[in-house]
Amino acid sequence: MNLFKRHMQLFFREELDIRHRLLNLILSAAFVGGLFSTIATFAVGGITSGLATMVVLVVVIVSLVLSVKFNQITAAALVITGLADLVLFPWMYFQSGGMHSGMPIWFVLGLIFTWLTLNGKLCYIMYFLELSVMVVTIVIGEDHPDWFKAMPDDYMRGDIIQSIIAVSIVIGVIFKYQTYVYEKQRKKILEKDEMLHIANEAKSEFLANMSHEIRTPINGIIGMNSMLLDEIDGGNTEAIKEYANNINSASRTLLAIINDILDISKIESGKMELTLVEYDLFSVLNDCYNLTMPRAAKKDLKLEMDIAKTIPSVLKGDEVHIRQIINNFLSNAVKYTNTGKVTLKMTEESRKGKDIVLKLEIIDTGIGIKPEDMEKLFSNFTRIDVKRNRSIEGTGLGLALTDKLVKLMDGEIKVESEYGKGSIFTVTIPQQIVKDEPIGDFSDKYQSYIKLAKKMSVNVKMPDVNILVVDDVEMNIKVFKGLLKKTGAKIDEVYSGQECIAKLYEKEYNMVFLDHMMPEMDGVETLRIIREKTDHKNVDTPIVVLTANAIVGAKEQYIKEGFVDYLSKPIQQEELINMIKEHVPARLVRKSD
Ligand code: ADP
Repeated sequence: MNLFKRHMQLFFREELDIRHRLLNLILSAAFVGGLFSTIATFAVGGITSGLATMVVLVVVIVSLVLSVKFNQITAAALVITGLADLVLFPWMYFQSGGMHSGMPIWFVLGLIFTWLTLNGKLCYIMYFLELSVMVVTIVIGEDHPDWFKAMPDDYMRGDIIQSIIAVSIVIGVIFKYQTYVYEKQRKKILEKDEMLHIANEAKSEFLANMSHEIRTPINGIIGMNSMLLDEIDGGNTEAIKEYANNINSASRTLLAIINDILDISKIESGKMELTLVEYDLFSVLNDCYNLTMPRAAKKDLKLEMDIAKTIPSVLKGDEVHIRQIINNFLSNAVKYTNTGKVTLKMTEESRKGKDIVLKLEIIDTGIGIKPEDMEKLFSNFTRIDVKRNRSIEGTGLGLALTDKLVKLMDGEIKVESEYGKGSIFTVTIPQQIVKDEPIGDFSDKYQSYIKLAKKMSVNVKMPDVNILVVDDVEMNIKVFKGLLKKTGAKIDEVYSGQECIAKLYEKEYNMVFLDHMMPEMDGVETLRIIREKTDHKNVDTPIVVLTANAIVGAKEQYIKEGFVDYLSKPIQQEELINMIKEHVPARLVRKSD
């Protein structure tokens, strides 16, 4: 059975064209027929006839090898048709009783076979050659009745009937096979057409949605800008500020949409690569918490972090995208919850040597999702329950992107939800353990992080020092400013690499603190651009990187990139102040009384 299957796969595989498959079919039949008749002829007809049939069998085998192994269809077809129509059939004509036997029927089959297996000029040449040989055979037979082997009448009748049956079956099978292959091919084409049609529709829908989503903030920007222009003459600074802020927020939305679209298309075209780095898990969770906390607080929601104490503290994985995944889920949970709380629960799903699978559950007591909407949740641009969610901002890209990112990391997402009660998004992501030391109690660690900001035992004053701090997490900036409050240093803050570059054109700073892990443009990329450009006001300003990357050798790496120094988070006050003292002119720093 297995052998039969393998034979079928080899002889009739789909990449072979129909002529080739047909040839293989006929040759296989000829081989089986030839094998049986060789055995039978040896047994009944004697050695000479036996040897003759064996020669025929060998020729069939040669043609089979030519066709199947070397893909030489034309050579194989020439050998087999030549053998049958030019040698075998004329010889058999005289052996089996000529015109009164079944042989003329076989002549017809031989000629049809030539049409089927040869192409182009060669087909016509062979056809006429074979036809001529057959005609000559018949004519010679007329002139030499003594050359025929004498056959009894009932044998002739039997031979004719048997030939009609055999030839009609062969021709029937050939036609049935051709029709089968044709139908199969036709179905495939239809299916492909259908798929193309669906893909095309999805693309049009995607484009339509995308244009709509992009147009909304652009309209906002244009509208606000014209109001702003009107107001400039009026001089109402409060209104100007408000319009400018609105423009800022619409531009951010626009950028976020475009970044999501770029990320999605990057993943879909297989161009998104994971960047594996060693990272401090507390620092990642701390940032995610700090980013979501203010939004939750605004809606009077509790944000709970339920992190298993035993999870290893330093892991290896794609830190940037892990943050993106957690932040997307947390942001949705807060967006779609009106009362109650949002919980981020993290446990170990499994562990084997250095490999660990993290299990994240984002639990909310929000509006929930209807069972019939579950399927649509992860599609591009699909927002569900649109009527109810009209007032909530969103593009319907977040979950689609998150799903793709998690899959890229070999992870999995599951959703459970009860409409009106809340949802649980469960994500499992494999990571590697770098340091097995347990992360410990999250809230204890968080408390000491906050205390740092409040501890003000500084006796250094530097009111003329201008510092720019860049971090996408507002809370981190608050902490940073808190740590320097008593020094009186003047601190400007921005939240992205792009804004940082713009700021450096505006104002001269004594020092810049630049966060490494930021979405869109990270700290290292930002620094590269700053160093490439020479027309801004901070060509020689020392830039320090802020990072959660606590690995040995990281400092050297950052310095190689062009940073003057590196500060690891959570930032220690003394370390920060000492670093500023070290890099700004001494005249700007004095001891306080
Ligand atoms: P959006 O930008 O609209 O938030 P997402 O792709 O993040 O897009 O989510 C798709 C849809 O799934 C949302 O429009 C919302 O209806 C639903 N959804 C996502 N998260 C939640 C949640 N935690 N609770 C209820 N509904 C949710």
